[in-house]
Amino acid sequence: MTATPDIVRLDLGPRSYDILVGDGVLAEAGPRIAALTRGKAPIVVTDENVAPLHLPTLERALSAAGIAPSPAIVLPAGEKTKDFAHFTDLMDGILGRGIERSTMLLALGGGVIGDITGFAAASALRGIDFIQVPTTLLSQVDSSVGGKTGINSRHGKNLIGAFHQPKLVIADTATLDTLPRREVLAGYAEVAKYGLIRLPDFFSWLEENGARVVDGDSAARRHAVTVSCRAKADIVGVDERESGDRALLNLGHTFGHALEAATGFGQTLLHGEAVAIGMVLAFDLSVRLGLCPAEDAARARAHLKAVGLPVRIADVAGVAWDVDWLVRAMAKDKKVQDGRITFVLVRGLGQAFTLRDVDAAAVREVLAESLA
Ligand code: NAD
Ligand code: MG
Repeated sequence: MTATPDIVRLDLGPRSYDILVGDGVLAEAGPRIAALTRGKAPIVVTDENVAPLHLPTLERALSAAGIAPSPAIVLPAGEKTKDFAHFTDLMDGILGRGIERSTMLLALGGGVIGDITGFAAASALRGIDFIQVPTTLLSQVDSSVGGKTGINSRHGKNLIGAFHQPKLVIADTATLDTLPRREVLAGYAEVAKYGLIRLPDFFSWLEENGARVVDGDSAARRHAVTVSCRAKADIVGVDERESGDRALLNLGHTFGHALEAATGFGQTLLHGEAVAIGMVLAFDLSVRLGLCPAEDAARARAHLKAVGLPVRIADVAGVAWDVDWLVRAMAKDKKVQDGRITFVLVRGLGQAFTLRDVDAAAVREVLAESLA
């Protein structure tokens, strides 16, 4: 299928880049990649699930543009791959190919592959170029855009990394056709987040069309991914290193992170599922603090629930939840400054803001209510 992509530009001066969005854009991306690699063979990094599904499309696109890539580096799938051992293997694999400063890396996969490959690109020879080819909804609307790269440490997630912007992002919504529904839904939570943070009209659109996005309607997916990328690009364009507005993207994440920590960052609760519950908690907390109308919180909750996401802690079965434990976990979050938790709260749908020193009793109350 021929595809004219939507093009979202992330303006960062000399580090600006395009995000191509559309159904089938990967198959057509050869010339754009060739222009950036100046004809030299890039190194593709992907994972074991994605390689059989989408590597042939990328390799055909490269060949059609006259580029013969060296054999892809295929890492195991899953969050455990974002560790030092796999990072070492990846760096050895890349350096073992005798790369030069001009060698390009291509990250084909979800956020795990994008994050570790981006960090490898930031590190190899003190920085080489890379292209993001995100294949999960989460990575298309979130992790592939904005230049945060990194790996996990035994001390926590994403604690080792670098800001390193890609040269291009190719978000082919056709690749989402092979993504398990649960992963689609987890990514959808981040889509809804943009509406809840600052795009009330987009949230209304999602209320009408969210089911089509989840169920695989190509036009709906393209619109949702394009609007999400534009929202993230606009925020990163004014606050690349998270000293201001970029923090709004953490709506639901302080709560969500604690829930993920309590469940071991595994399959019990996917990141997007934790964010869905976390966003509902952020709305509940905002209502409780008298900052947000209850109707807006009800709409946020109703929509996330309607598409099939969990919205209460009690929706996650088989976990012995404990309010004290969760509060302690939140206090350990990366976003804590001088021991004070900064929450992203809302004045209504699409009106997020940050607040420090939130009343601890109110936090405990919304948690207790959600897990009852
Ligand atoms: P993931 O990369 O683990 O992908 C989820 C699963 O889907 C994996 O099993 C993967 O193999 C599989 N998969 C990927 N594409 C597929 C496809 N098209 N068809 C079938 N299966 C496919 O997880 P994710 O949700 O994409 O990303 C999560 C990671 O992203 C986390 O490590 C998180 O820390 C990171 N992240 C980073 C940023 C950032 O700004 N850098 C932002 C958000 C999240
Ligand atoms: Mg997130």
